[in-house]
Amino acid sequence: MTVPSTVLIIGATRGLGLALAREWLQRGWNVIATVRSSRQCELCETAEKSAGRLAIEHLEMTDAAAIAALKQRLSRVELDLLFVNAAIANGPGDRVDRMSTEEFTRIMVTNALSPMRAVEALGPLVRRGGTIAVMSSSLGSVALNETGGWEVYRASKAALNTLMRSYAARHAEDGRGLALVDPGWVRTDMGGSDATLGVEESIPGVVDALAARHGQPGLRYFNYKSETVPW
Ligand code: NDP
Repeated sequence: MTVPSTVLIIGATRGLGLALAREWLQRGWNVIATVRSSRQCELCETAEKSAGRLAIEHLEMTDAAAIAALKQRLSRVELDLLFVNAAIANGPGDRVDRMSTEEFTRIMVTNALSPMRAVEALGPLVRRGGTIAVMSSSLGSVALNETGGWEVYRASKAALNTLMRSYAARHAEDGRGLALVDPGWVRTDMGGSDATLGVEESIPGVVDALAARHGQPGLRYFNYKSETVPW
């Protein structure tokens, strides 16, 4: 009998994180998924129907002590995949010249510093040959930024990408795959109703693209169609 693989998803209450949890459950994985609050918890309903294969943990990702506590709670778990999904945005009109220092800091701390803290703390729970993945965006690509818009969100994802490159350089010998994932432009609370893709068009592709690279060490930046995204 083969042992099911285990994934930990950070930020799975709604949108792409919720869909990722459901997709891996459907593919027979054990899923540990984090929420900030149990209010209106769609994931809790999924957990009730999962025959124990979906466990819910609580995490406010910007709280470093909470990340350390989660690591402690999961210290006996061996992960095949860590997927850090959580992030915030404040829309296409986000411009650096109109943003307060507090809002700039909030976006950078949530989208760049906190995912890296999660990777640093929880990455060691991933077995050798497993994968540490972080949700990036094509908007994080410096090379593809011809149009502007989403200025600070873009900068936060570009910072995240660069921090992952530094992490990869520091962990070159540790035998884990590293992934920065662009899910495409998807209709969620963040992506909005004009987005070109439904969750059901993006997420199976994201999971397939990760599966295709599973066990390959080194950092890759790719999208839901499994295409490489330029840095
Ligand atoms: P949503 O806004 O729909 O969901 C965001 C998720 O992140 C929620 O589960 C939210 O939890 C969680 N989250 C936000 N901040 C924190 C925090 N501080 N601590 C813990 N959890 C937090 O976004 P999407 O599903 O659209 O996006 C998911 C990921 O995909 C993000 O990284 C986003 O940048 C990326 N992405 C999305 C695209 C799109 O078109 N939708 C395009 C490219 C990238 P809560 O419910 O508690 O707020």
